[in-house]
Amino acid sequence: MTDLPVTLPDIERAARRIDGRILRTPFVLSAALAQRCGVPVGLKLEHHQTTGSFKLRGATNALLSLPPEKRARGVVAASTGNHGRALAHAARAEGSVATICMSKLVPDNKVAEIRRLGANVRIVGKSQDDAQAEVERLVTENGLVMVPPFDDGAIVAGQGTLGLEILEAMPDVATVLVPLSGGGLAAGIAAAVKARSPKTRVIGLTMERGAAMKASLDAGRPVQVEEVESLADSLGGGIGLDNTVTFAMCRALLDDVILLSETEIAAGMRHAYREEREVIEGAGAVGIAALLSARVGRLDGPVALVLSGRNVDMAQHLRVINENPDPFREAAA
Ligand SMILES: *Cc1c(COP(=O)(O)O)cnc(C)c1O
Repeated sequence: MTDLPVTLPDIERAARRIDGRILRTPFVLSAALAQRCGVPVGLKLEHHQTTGSFKLRGATNALLSLPPEKRARGVVAASTGNHGRALAHAARAEGSVATICMSKLVPDNKVAEIRRLGANVRIVGKSQDDAQAEVERLVTENGLVMVPPFDDGAIVAGQGTLGLEILEAMPDVATVLVPLSGGGLAAGIAAAVKARSPKTRVIGLTMERGAAMKASLDAGRPVQVEEVESLADSLGGGIGLDNTVTFAMCRALLDDVILLSETEIAAGMRHAYREEREVIEGAGAVGIAALLSARVGRLDGPVALVLSGRNVDMAQHLRVINENPDPFREAAA
């Protein structure tokens, strides 16, 4: 395990570095899920993190890990989602400036949100690939520093600080359920948890549609998958065919990867809202979805879930919540 790109000491250093700059989010027990599962279930309410997702941990650690002269040049990324928001916020907080590149197809409200967080916005082309090409141009021609969303040691170490906080809150945790896309979150949490509590299982959860890390783990190398729409839009996208950090870590550290259907993810969002009184996006609901659908198998001890984000379109959230008009049918099912 020590030959992996990110190990416990990196994560402990990240925790000290970002301390006071991110929220230590609450960890609460869910009575409703404990009753269903027969074991204690703890929820890490990371959707309450500043900017609405855990991505601020990695972005803040990445910025603080840059030498001051690089930080002063400014940072750049192509994400219009949670990584873009986090990077914009972290850059402003640490005396840098973020430039977020996006295509013309990105909706106005997302553009406005990124601007509000103090970032420069560059709108180019008609696809994510065009936006990424602009990132690369700004790196070579203007000397900006690219901060990738997941495949980067400082990002993974920052996300891994969540693993330390989960173990402090629930030292006897037997299973940790983690949303999985590019694998920065799962790799970081697994590295922290497995180092301090080797017997704890760490399971990655993602949507059936376009599960790039799952397909790559099955193939034994990074592969591309077709992108399709999902309620868990923050879990979309590939892992990069030239992946250098998260693929190896997920392969070495994850005990299992479980795929959830759109119906199951919707049920997870509804449970979060009705039973836990929490608004979460689809990507943040996969842990609850896996427990509700009994996909995790036999549970032999306390379970911890990461509610990873809350940046959901509220009209979509309302539709999902109202889909099943009889809340008690679902709870009893
Ligand atoms: C980015 C993101 C994930 C997945 O994280 P990876 O590090 O890409 O695996 C999960 N949930 C939310 C809310 C996210 O923004």
